[in-house]
Amino acid sequence: MIVFDLSCAIGEHRFEAWFASSDSFADQQARGLIACPICGDADVRKAAMAPRVGAKSNQAVAAPAAAPPANAAEPTPELVRKVLAEIAAKQAEMLPQSRWVGRDFADAARAMHEGRAAEDLIHGQASPDEAQALRDDGIAAMPLLVPIIPPDAVN
Ligand SMILES: [Zn+2]
Repeated sequence: MIVFDLSCAIGEHRFEAWFASSDSFADQQARGLIACPICGDADVRKAAMAPRVGAKSNQAVAAPAAAPPANAAEPTPELVRKVLAEIAAKQAEMLPQSRWVGRDFADAARAMHEGRAAEDLIHGQASPDEAQALRDDGIAAMPLLVPIIPPDAVN
């Protein structure tokens, strides 16, 4: 069996029809035995196959197209890893220039903010309450985004 896409001459209606063979189609067409199921026109010919093939290939590309685009708002795991790697690199770059003050961080940051100590790049430990108090006083303190091992804990 073979399927043909057919169309009628009058309405250009498209329809499918099955035939035993290509010759069988030609024979039935010549004898006017094939009629358009929509308008009954017997002047029926093979429709161009391209649209049907096109529809199939469109389906094939529909799946990847339905996937989220690369610039969607949702960050991809690759992007998150890249950003984290950049943060870690930046932190690793800054930490050697930064003075470890351990648990004195809040006091040291406040002293610098109030001009009682020279401006310096410091890092250390602060309790959530201390960190909140610094923020309340408008003292810039950022949590280290990549955990580090306190130097005084390494022994
Ligand atoms: Zn028709």
